[in-house]
Amino acid sequence: MEKSGGCLCGNVRYHVTTEPFGVVICCCRFCQKATGSDYMVEPLFEPDDFRVTRGQTARYEHISEGSGHPLTVNFCRDCGTRLFHQVHRFDGCIGVFAGTFDNPSWYQRTPDTVDMIFTDTAPNGAVIPEGYKTYPAHCIADDGSENDPTIYDRSRVIGPHKM
Ligand SMILES: [Zn+2]
Ligand SMILES: [Zn+2]
Repeated sequence: MEKSGGCLCGNVRYHVTTEPFGVVICCCRFCQKATGSDYMVEPLFEPDDFRVTRGQTARYEHISEGSGHPLTVNFCRDCGTRLFHQVHRFDGCIGVFAGTFDNPSWYQRTPDTVDMIFTDTAPNGAVIPEGYKTYPAHCIADDGSENDPTIYDRSRVIGPHKM
């Protein structure tokens, strides 16, 4: 199995060799800025399971306000599409910007595989799906332990128009 993706203009291509070991839906302000949307859908891969197969990315290094660790955003210098970032806090694991896969539906994205994080900063109108493990900030504390999730038994909408 080998799944590929790339940027809008096609100058940068990548592929992964396994299913993601996890999927994060992140509503933090960084991910909102990086995606221009309510949250980032981020399938996660070990560095060995991910490879750029065409072109070269430009990079932007961002220091996380939360953890103080750097995050390297990789994007196409020609069309500006963000493709993946490297999370130095977690051994350089690769978070792919999910919409850049050729088939963005190829891997499992279910309540069992997803952690939805930083819901405290989700904007008005964002939807928290029922059954998902959600966290107000990160799912893993600074000391490496896992925080307890909140699971809603019905979907809710952030902001003044709560369901
Ligand atoms: Zn491009
Ligand atoms: Zn985020």
